[in-house]
Amino acid sequence: MNLVTLPLETPSPAHICPFDQACSYLEQAAKELRMEQGLLEVLSHPRKVVTVSIPVKLDNGQVQVLAGHRVQHCDVLGPYKGGTRYHPAVTLREVSALAMLMTWKCALVGIPYGGAKGGIALDPARYSVGELERITRRYTSELIKDIGPSVDIPAPDIGTSAREMAWMMDTYSMNVGHAVPGIVTGKPISIGGSRGREMATGRGVMIIVREALADRGKTLAGTRVVIQGFGNVGGAAASLLHEAGAIVMSVSDVSGGIYNPNGLDIPALKAYAAQNHRSIVGFPESKSITNTELLALPCDVLIPAALENQITEDNVHEVQAEIVAEAANGPVTLMADLALEARGITVLPDILTNAGGVVVSYLEWVQGLSYVFWDEERVNREMEGLMVYAYHQVTKESKMRQVPLRLAAYTLGVGRVAQALTDRGLYP
Ligand code: NAD
Repeated sequence: MNLVTLPLETPSPAHICPFDQACSYLEQAAKELRMEQGLLEVLSHPRKVVTVSIPVKLDNGQVQVLAGHRVQHCDVLGPYKGGTRYHPAVTLREVSALAMLMTWKCALVGIPYGGAKGGIALDPARYSVGELERITRRYTSELIKDIGPSVDIPAPDIGTSAREMAWMMDTYSMNVGHAVPGIVTGKPISIGGSRGREMATGRGVMIIVREALADRGKTLAGTRVVIQGFGNVGGAAASLLHEAGAIVMSVSDVSGGIYNPNGLDIPALKAYAAQNHRSIVGFPESKSITNTELLALPCDVLIPAALENQITEDNVHEVQAEIVAEAANGPVTLMADLALEARGITVLPDILTNAGGVVVSYLEWVQGLSYVFWDEERVNREMEGLMVYAYHQVTKESKMRQVPLRLAAYTLGVGRVAQALTDRGLYP
């Protein structure tokens, strides 16, 4: 696909370009499904790519112009849905890849959404709260005609949280003249957010790991886990796995990692990070390790929960886990995926493993549209039902087609979207 190349884009090596990898997985699924070439062409291209300039007045009076993207991949099953990422490495190709993944993910877990993603190339740590608010509001205003509660519904992703969603919701609402809670998910409970949303992606990761262990006759109790990333997803997964009796031996964030072979006290670590500018480094009763060392630790389950392209051709031979659970989007490159498969290491694919977040986003949207709000127990129960069902469908498909779990997940997700597109027909 020829996406517009922006001046701000940093080219990634061809073999780890996120969009090329996403297309490659799509092509594998299409081959498995014997999909017509024309249909594959349609699904290989995002339906809409929007790039906007975001001029922001900084606290020192200077004006800076940032580039913001929103890519809408395919809305054949329902409104577009996808997170908003604030990170210096955001590029249009990365956002396009993530939008495509969202399409398959929503179809896989059976929720009526299409895939989208947004992002701004910035390091949120370098901006004040006021600057971030102005950036978020201007970005939302620029996208006002492209988003909407039945058109495209943003959510949090790396570098954004309920706070940014509240600003987006308020900006949209002020522009249209009335409160529109359904414009975003992952917002604070005070303005229509769902109970359970904050922990949802991490909870979904815990559920999928639990099911995969159960298939091997094992339980979470006593399972040795290593987690890269201690943000929304990694932090929640760590807490829930710890609660379930798993030994969380090592976790890391952007500043480094910590390791204790007997297991880290995750509640104490969370309290420590809260008082230490959200950094885990220096936590007592642990040894410092690098992110590279963390990925090579012997363990039962390795959970990359930070960024893309963390397990690559260069370090895949060092992985010593029985299961790699992709909590982040695209943490294992295409080549590394093949190498893990060849070594008999199970990869629980991102479009299944981290789908808990979009499932609860969907439940939040449903609650918002019906003006009936559920308790957390019900939200968790509904999410768990959809996640467990999807897991068993993927394992069944994998056995039936004799393919790895990732390809099985793709054939299910892509197959459902292709079927819907065929049934609806090509407009005009
Ligand atoms: P976050 O910003 O809350 O946390 C990211 C974490 O990764 C932080 O602890 C950060 O310090 C760490 N990190 C950043 N760079 C790192 C590096 N080079 N090495 C090690 N750690 C590093 O983001 P998040 O919302 O937890 O998202 C994490 C991943 O999960 C992303 O791939 C995202 O797309 C995916 N995801 C998130 C959600 C969600 O609901 N938030 C849903 C589905 C998938």
